Amino acid sequence: MIAEEYKKMLGQKSVIREIAEYGSERAKDIGYENVFDYSLGNPSVPVPQEFTTKLVELATSSEPGAIHGYSPSLGIESVREKVAQSLSRRFDMNYKKEHIFMASGAAGALAHALRAVTTKGDEVVTFAPFFPEYTPYVNKSGAILRVVPAKTDDFQINFAEFEKMVTPKVMAVLINTPNNPSGVVYSTETIKKLASFLQEKEREFGHEIFLISDEPYREIVFENVDAPFVAKYYPNTITCYSFSKSLSLAGERIGYIAVNPECKEAELIINMCGQISRGIGHNCPPSIIQLAVAEVIDMTADLSVYETNMTILYNELTNLGFTCAKPGGTFYMFPKALEEDAVAFCKRALKYDLLLVPADSFGCPGYFRMAYCIPTEKVKRSLVAFRKLAKDYQL
Ligand code: PLP
Repeated sequence: MIAEEYKKMLGQKSVIREIAEYGSERAKDIGYENVFDYSLGNPSVPVPQEFTTKLVELATSSEPGAIHGYSPSLGIESVREKVAQSLSRRFDMNYKKEHIFMASGAAGALAHALRAVTTKGDEVVTFAPFFPEYTPYVNKSGAILRVVPAKTDDFQINFAEFEKMVTPKVMAVLINTPNNPSGVVYSTETIKKLASFLQEKEREFGHEIFLISDEPYREIVFENVDAPFVAKYYPNTITCYSFSKSLSLAGERIGYIAVNPECKEAELIINMCGQISRGIGHNCPPSIIQLAVAEVIDMTADLSVYETNMTILYNELTNLGFTCAKPGGTFYMFPKALEEDAVAFCKRALKYDLLLVPADSFGCPGYFRMAYCIPTEKVKRSLVAFRKLAKDYQL
């Protein structure tokens, strides 16, 4: 017998991928430049030249075993050390290499974090709108995902609903800031309130509640936006980071877990990650990629285009009458559809070759997501299509 549970998942293909596939087909007919594809969150800016230079240097002048051999299961020590030093320097923390585990992107980091702090039947709470892959990430770890409804006025945390859902079964709370899909960054006030509530619940329940902070967009924060470093406010924080977006390295599968040094079990959790890897067949990211990112640890790609695109789109869409929380970072925005059914709305947008993603799978029906990691020139050309779409809805 083959595994029914995975077979069933075949029938639940990601809406985002389906729309992107439609876009590729349409591009064959009308040319890629005429398809306004806002569906996929694939970074559009080049990898920094420094990264490429270091990678070539490593490839051409290192001893082959050092760059192509197996990595230790927790990651290469010198790389873990550089990650720890960078975090400590940037955020005034006390990370040591013992608090760092190198993982295959944020997805790999989350797979480990979830398994480290939950067992079968435990609950993990997250907040709508949320990255749809959280469903398989959490469910396949054996835990149960609970989703707090969105606070649609500003997409900060809906504390009134959240507080009702935190029972003794909750072992972890999963947050994502800056957020995919809303683009919103949780404020210091939100994070402080979350931390103090969770600490109170830890005392009440007599067990830890881990805060798993998914941060692939940490470096994509717009001007004058308050973007706190989450772990600073809560000792039991497990930060899951990825270089996919900050260095435009999504295909290289590189990221890490950083467990707050103030967490009592920090070193134990990191060591356990090596054992979790054995169970899920995850091996550390390629040695050469670990070494290359460590060489540019404090750098990012030139991310400025994302804010430029956001400003153009936000101004135009709000002028056209769309309701939208202003993104504080990422390359996503999350307007309200012009009809109740966002799926119907996104279908109608296809008439103008606008590829938008209905937010039902993000746990927030009635909204849609736009990934504006596309050239600014194309963003500008797409405005006419948005105007035509909005006109369709005028009485
Ligand atoms: N978490 C969020 C919120 C994401 O948007 C993504 C990717 O888009 C991931 C996790 C997975 O990141 P990675 O590609 O680094 O595994």
